Amino acid sequence: MTTDASTTDLTTTAGLLSAIEDPHGREIHDPATGEVVGRTREGSPAEIEAAVAAARKAQPAWAATSAQERSELLNQAADAIEASAEALAELLSREQGKPLNGPNARFEVGACAAWLRANAAFELEPEVLVEDGETHAELHYRPVGVIGAVGPWNWPMMISVWQFAPALKMGNTVVLKPSEYTPLSVQALVDVVNQALPADVLSVVPGDGAVGAALTGHADIDKIMFTGSTKTGQAIMRSAADSLARLTLELGGNDAGIVLEDADPAAIAGDLFWGAFINTGQTCAAMKRLYVPESLYDQVCQALVEVAGASPMGVGLEEENVLGPLQNKQQYDIVAGLVQAAKDGGARVLTGGDPVAEQPGYFYPTTLVADIDNDNPLVSEEQFGPVLPIIKYTDLDQAIEWANGLEVGLGSSVWGTDLDACRKVAARLQAGSTWINKHGAVDPRIPFGGVKKSGFGLEFGLEGLKHVSVPHVISW
Ligand code: NDP
Repeated sequence: MTTDASTTDLTTTAGLLSAIEDPHGREIHDPATGEVVGRTREGSPAEIEAAVAAARKAQPAWAATSAQERSELLNQAADAIEASAEALAELLSREQGKPLNGPNARFEVGACAAWLRANAAFELEPEVLVEDGETHAELHYRPVGVIGAVGPWNWPMMISVWQFAPALKMGNTVVLKPSEYTPLSVQALVDVVNQALPADVLSVVPGDGAVGAALTGHADIDKIMFTGSTKTGQAIMRSAADSLARLTLELGGNDAGIVLEDADPAAIAGDLFWGAFINTGQTCAAMKRLYVPESLYDQVCQALVEVAGASPMGVGLEEENVLGPLQNKQQYDIVAGLVQAAKDGGARVLTGGDPVAEQPGYFYPTTLVADIDNDNPLVSEEQFGPVLPIIKYTDLDQAIEWANGLEVGLGSSVWGTDLDACRKVAARLQAGSTWINKHGAVDPRIPFGGVKKSGFGLEFGLEGLKHVSVPHVISW
């Protein structure tokens, strides 16, 4: 049995773990060292049943509080996260693998608090649709009800907050199902946040894909928020047909970056690198293929090799590291296989590409690949790791066609000094977001979502609140 979180010191990693660990549960291993981080209890479809029923019972009272009261509680939840920040970051680093430093574990915990505070500050007012003296019509946003949220292992805490912060703000209650690879981080986060919230407004049921399916297929779930693979997103959409649960699906992508002729390679190299290698490349909206004009090709390649060489990879708790291991063996094998495909296709490895065979962790070296064909699998498939293929182009129209040539469309970016020229290219890209001279720069105020097989529905900002609401038009 686990210890009661209300009597445990949640500002230490040991305290966080003691509140959630099941001594007989499944071992969770540090992907950097193979050491046991803790033992997670495993939930079950029966536990989903109980959690959904409790969330349903708690929802009317939660929705009856004022938006201001809910905002105050979200701010208190952010205070609680900040009080436990270092402990949460250490647990996240050990379970997920990401270093404490760089745009990694401390950054992720900081984003959790920031997203809660941003949602606390948003005010979604009714919209007056018609007011002409004879007819008045206004659009109100009501809570959907009970939201089931299923998350991935790459940014387990932050993506959970992306899902539950707007949902709670709008008066919904939420049941979370974290990835089986990162259950401890999400359970610890929920314990910390729940210090501020009433009972059963937010709960978490750890478990495997079958537990996730029990949640997303539950007849009493009003809305599903899912972040993960396209394949699972499709399965969830099928299972939601019976309940007609509303959906927000964030299904990853294969983001392109296009460098224009007037870009300054030295000036953009750092941002290009981190646009691709944030969280060791395990980020849905990371740049996963880079198109560079022939005139700048060697300079961009060289500048990226220099940044890579100055960005240490290693065990997360060692402060000097800014890149970590792949989170799991499955992902390691995907990345290794795709780099091998690039080598087999005659591409030139600029750095990396030579993993150490015998090592305790799933470390794949930072890898930059040049002179690669656009149809090589390393370009056309989402590698989700510390690898960037750099494709040479001579014709901008061709580069745009290549960028748009896949079935997915989450993020994209354009890099150059002439903002108007960048904006013209941006307007031609098929993606939910296009950044100029940055990549993957999510902001709680700015809506984010995908097109094509990257999914649908928006998160963040007022649009994000609307997506966890149902419309109600009142007219007279
Ligand atoms: P999945 O889509 O399999 O898993 C995401 C979440 O869905 C997990 O919590 C998983 O549980 C759960 N799940 C699995 N099956 C079902 C189901 N039938 N119904 C409801 N929930 C379910 O992603 P993977 O972790 O397997 O990663 C595979 C690929 O997805 C990666 O290689 C990467 O390309 C992409 N990905 C994209 C992410 C993004 O941010 N968009 C994040 C992570 C991965 P469990 O983990 O227990 O199986």
